[in-house]
Amino acid sequence: MLDLKKLIEGSADSAEFDVTVDAGDVSADVVSGAARAYGKVTNHSGLLLLEGTLEPDLRAVCGRCGNVFEYAVPVPLRAKITDKVADSADEDEFVLMSDCAVDIEELIRTTLVLELPTRFLCREDCKGLCPKCGADLNEGECGCDHSERDHRWDKLLDYFDKK
Ligand SMILES: [Zn+2]
Ligand SMILES: [Zn+2]
Repeated sequence: MLDLKKLIEGSADSAEFDVTVDAGDVSADVVSGAARAYGKVTNHSGLLLLEGTLEPDLRAVCGRCGNVFEYAVPVPLRAKITDKVADSADEDEFVLMSDCAVDIEELIRTTLVLELPTRFLCREDCKGLCPKCGADLNEGECGCDHSERDHRWDKLLDYFDKK
């Protein structure tokens, strides 16, 4: 929890944070890892603004080739903090605090779930696996014929193979 009491009372100008949480379970494609968030909360005439950076340090599975790789793309962290929301439409915009404290670990995990890609790629141009032999095509050509084939001709080709 990040204590904001001094910030709210006015005896501090900002509340700084530097928190690392375990993030091995934020996605089914994440094998293990953590996420670090650092920054500060400032008081703007009663509006509490949290600004910082979220740095994931994850080992994720590539959606194309299945290799585990390091995923560490930072995302900006920004949230408005309040102790109550006027109507439910504002709930997405604000982070609620209780007893002058905000659950920063929860905020980090929620932000990660929202910001992480739905499909991880080890690199933008990952070639994936050969659909025939399963070889990792990033490591070179496997020798299979990758030209598209119309499967309606399969039976005919089988016929000629047997001749
Ligand atoms: Zn890949
Ligand atoms: Zn192949």
